[in-house]
Amino acid sequence: MAELVLKELSKTYMKNNKPIPAVKSLNLTCRDGEFVALLGPSGCGKTTTLRMVAGLETVTSGQILIGGNVVNGLPPHRRNIGLAFENYALYPPLTVYENIAFNLKARGVPAAETDREVKRIAELLHITDLLPLKPGALSGGQKQRVNIARAIVRKPSVLLLDEPLSHLDGKMRQRMRTEIKRLHTEIRSTTIIVTHDQSEAMALADRIAVIHEGELQQYGTPLEIFNDPANEFVAGFIGEPPMNLFTVETEESGGEKRFRISGTPFGFPVPEPYRPLAQSGRRFRFGIRPHDIRVVQGDGPESLAMPVTVFENLGEERRIFVRLKDLLLSVVTRDSIRYEPGQTVRLYFRPEKTYLFDPETGRRVRV
Ligand code: ATP
Repeated sequence: MAELVLKELSKTYMKNNKPIPAVKSLNLTCRDGEFVALLGPSGCGKTTTLRMVAGLETVTSGQILIGGNVVNGLPPHRRNIGLAFENYALYPPLTVYENIAFNLKARGVPAAETDREVKRIAELLHITDLLPLKPGALSGGQKQRVNIARAIVRKPSVLLLDEPLSHLDGKMRQRMRTEIKRLHTEIRSTTIIVTHDQSEAMALADRIAVIHEGELQQYGTPLEIFNDPANEFVAGFIGEPPMNLFTVETEESGGEKRFRISGTPFGFPVPEPYRPLAQSGRRFRFGIRPHDIRVVQGDGPESLAMPVTVFENLGEERRIFVRLKDLLLSVVTRDSIRYEPGQTVRLYFRPEKTYLFDPETGRRVRV
């Protein structure tokens, strides 16, 4: 076990003589035993970061420290890292037992100790019955378990998991997610998981590093990232369904300030905390989560009357979608209501649950 520190870590690839910056000055500390998720859309540089930590990719600049030691110059096998990549890469001619034992044998670990360790890890991952089988006879979920077993059998200081659940279907994915969480509480190794699935990151990680275009956007606990997003990208990336985000313009008449949704006649009062900074004509990006919009009855200037585009009853909750030009506003409610497309619904944005972002920089506007 060890702390992992990334200092100003950068990677630029060259493609057709053109530089492609994949990771830009990344600073990140994963405490000893912490479970960290690198989260971001495809191509944001997550895998490149992981590969640099593993020693499979050279570093353009910056430092990687494991347990306080700079490991930039060390080959992968001397970094004491366990790797489980998205492709299982098990050796097909070897049994599960032999696959797990492979690295220990290669390191000259005595046979009795190897045997003990393989069996212990197999038990931990509930794959003892699979030990005599060859990879060809395993399901995707079973292969994934073996893959992870192989990564942790060498007692790594840092465990790296690259999209370990991406090949699994819904239910198996859910089960393996729980298994990985349980495993981490048992082995407590510093772990980094790479994923583009925000719910996976939220469920598994102690802290999440949200990355976009090679740059760290925010690093914090799942709740911090969810409740207190640093910018519009983070706000829109976390949450299901995603946060509603649209442009508003401030309008002022008779001493009252209102936000009008750009390109539409719909408006609502500027939420209390933002009133001092909302000068007439000023534009913002406005955010509110679908769960924070209330369906209300009666009329009044506080709520918006809008035509329902789609109504979905998902049993536990109901979803209402309203199309306003390019914007599809989504609302999630637990109220027992029913709407037909075209019917009018009255929506109220809970003022204390609203977010403002700078339209130029995307940064959160704080009050
Ligand atoms: P995904 O989730 O799709 O794997 P990612 O977030 O892991 O994406 P990376 O694979 O790290 O992203 O890629 C980051 C950027 O670097 C992308 O623009 C990618 O095209 C580029 N890239 C990655 N590997 C190479 C390479 N070997 N040569 C050139 N460019 C590369």
